[in-house]
Amino acid sequence: MRRRRYLPILSIITVLIASMPVSSLAWYDETHLAIAKAAGYYKWYNAAGADMAKLKAGKIESNNHYCNNGRATAVTPEMVLDQIDAYDTVEESGHIYGAIIASLRNYIEKKKEGKYGEYHMAFCAHYVGDLSMPLHNTAYDEFNKKHHAEIDGIINDEVLDNIDKIRVYTITINSEQDLAEQVARIANLSKELGYKLEDENRLITKEEAYTQISHSASLIKAILTYSEEQMSKQRIPSE
Ligand SMILES: [Zn+2]
Repeated sequence: MRRRRYLPILSIITVLIASMPVSSLAWYDETHLAIAKAAGYYKWYNAAGADMAKLKAGKIESNNHYCNNGRATAVTPEMVLDQIDAYDTVEESGHIYGAIIASLRNYIEKKKEGKYGEYHMAFCAHYVGDLSMPLHNTAYDEFNKKHHAEIDGIINDEVLDNIDKIRVYTITINSEQDLAEQVARIANLSKELGYKLEDENRLITKEEAYTQISHSASLIKAILTYSEEQMSKQRIPSE
């Protein structure tokens, strides 16, 4: 009979855990750093900073890190572009896709003004990292809550020693529309994998995790090239 006394406490703890914001979860720090390093981002060591910002800014930042898509939702370039205005707002279904483009815009704008701007690119590189985490692209359902942290950490302890397992491929971006298409492509791959894991009731394999983060690293590399081109375009007429 005594055991029953613990049940209310257990229930309270369960409710507390279940109501913890998704903000406490994302690929862990070393995984974000490895993705940015593989992409050739010279300030790769800033790529975990966006998770630090969540600690101070709460939902205004944390809602930038995911998008709760139902199974039937196909992420389209239009949906990506529609989320841009939601950047840095509280909107709990999440708007990571728009956050990628909005943070890049901020970076290019600040650089063109001759300002530092680098933290905006660090945010962008982080969001592109989260883009390949399958459960950042699916509904925050029971499976997501239960397995999110384990999947976040699946390769974290080893990944900085295995940068060569991240396979960077060529993506060409010439416009925001191109970027929106690439974001949508990776979002859909990630979402499909997320629901596959749920259907098979299993964690992501390490192999699958390296494949996922390879998409992120490849997109960051393309974004870095694109942003350089945008900034040099601006400079030429003024010379
Ligand atoms: Zn994150």
